[in-house]
Amino acid sequence: MTLGDRTFDGMWSTIEPIGRQEGSGGYRRYAWTRDDVMLREWFAGEASARGLDLVTDRAGNQWAWWGDPDAAVAKGCPGVVIGSHLDSVPDGGAFDGPLGVVSALAAIDILRDKGFAPSRPIAVASFIDEEGARFGVACAGSRLITGQLDPDKARGLCDADGITMAEAMTAAGHDTEHVGPDEETLRRIGTFVELHVEQGRGLVDLGRPLAVGSVIWPHGRWRIDLDGEANHAGTTALEDRHDPMLALATTVLAAREAATTHGCVATVGKLRVEPNGVNAIPSRVTAWLDARGPSEARVRTVVEAVARQSGSFATEESWTPETAFDASLVQRLSGLLEDAPILATGAGHDAGILSAAGVSAAMLFVRNPTGVSHSPAEFVEREDCHRGVEALARVTEELAR
Ligand SMILES: [Zn+2]
Repeated sequence: MTLGDRTFDGMWSTIEPIGRQEGSGGYRRYAWTRDDVMLREWFAGEASARGLDLVTDRAGNQWAWWGDPDAAVAKGCPGVVIGSHLDSVPDGGAFDGPLGVVSALAAIDILRDKGFAPSRPIAVASFIDEEGARFGVACAGSRLITGQLDPDKARGLCDADGITMAEAMTAAGHDTEHVGPDEETLRRIGTFVELHVEQGRGLVDLGRPLAVGSVIWPHGRWRIDLDGEANHAGTTALEDRHDPMLALATTVLAAREAATTHGCVATVGKLRVEPNGVNAIPSRVTAWLDARGPSEARVRTVVEAVARQSGSFATEESWTPETAFDASLVQRLSGLLEDAPILATGAGHDAGILSAAGVSAAMLFVRNPTGVSHSPAEFVEREDCHRGVEALARVTEELAR
């Protein structure tokens, strides 16, 4: 890999081929794989080319510091951190994550070119394993350092090939012994701003290039077991059947209807059918419901309605309460960026994990003309990328002044 020119466009083309899939054009950049190691080496190279001090924390997140973070902690004025993640979902887009990391490096260059002398240290962060595509836990890097993911549990998580996270870390050269909560790293973050591609059409509809994130919607996952009776598809009269697939159809439609009524979103994206034969009435169908919305009460109302209409129970498998970003920081950023609109999001992010751990955090969203994310169709016009870099530089200058 050559280290190309260090403009936004130069950095973007350097990492563009890494992990890209020939067929779909999407990315498979999974944590602790060879592609991930290449991206980590690229990030280390960009840090070193700028004379930034690279620190890898206990979980494997990378921090490139401009200025001494510990001297600032001692003075009670910890650093300003900008950045995002470099990993992807299966066949994900190019922008989810890398846009925030590349923009942060480019923002540092703008500040240096204009001779800015920060009074607080500034870091570019690159979080490991944000998508959880390989080991199933999203935001594993930020959850580990904040103590929201147990280190023993993390080390034991298996990928689809039965390789544990500990084995994958070791193979990639990361010491697994000290994986876990990292107070030293957290103390250094005074403020965190994550720039991210918008995963929806909010900005397209508003005709604006940039927004500030306000809250991450509360969200959860539920399992619904629908029981029936296995029987022959050819010889069982319709009136004699106990077919749980009919209950599934009702469940999926109920999810759509309840979500519409209560201003939420609800998805049935995963199923297990037993015995899963073309010519057999199923004995059991298990469906997983993902539901998110602007308030816990509304999401719970949706889930109750779905369970009632399915004729079964909804077993909660995970729940994440609403995460609000630092309200005064959100207002300040919006004011700095021509009164940028303030938008809520249904997607989780490292900024949300840090915010839940008490860090002052906020997000900047950059317009995505397709509105599509976690897909090769995800897109940002180059002009909007550059606007994002300018905005991030302005915000960082103000916060570190
Ligand atoms: Zn992301």
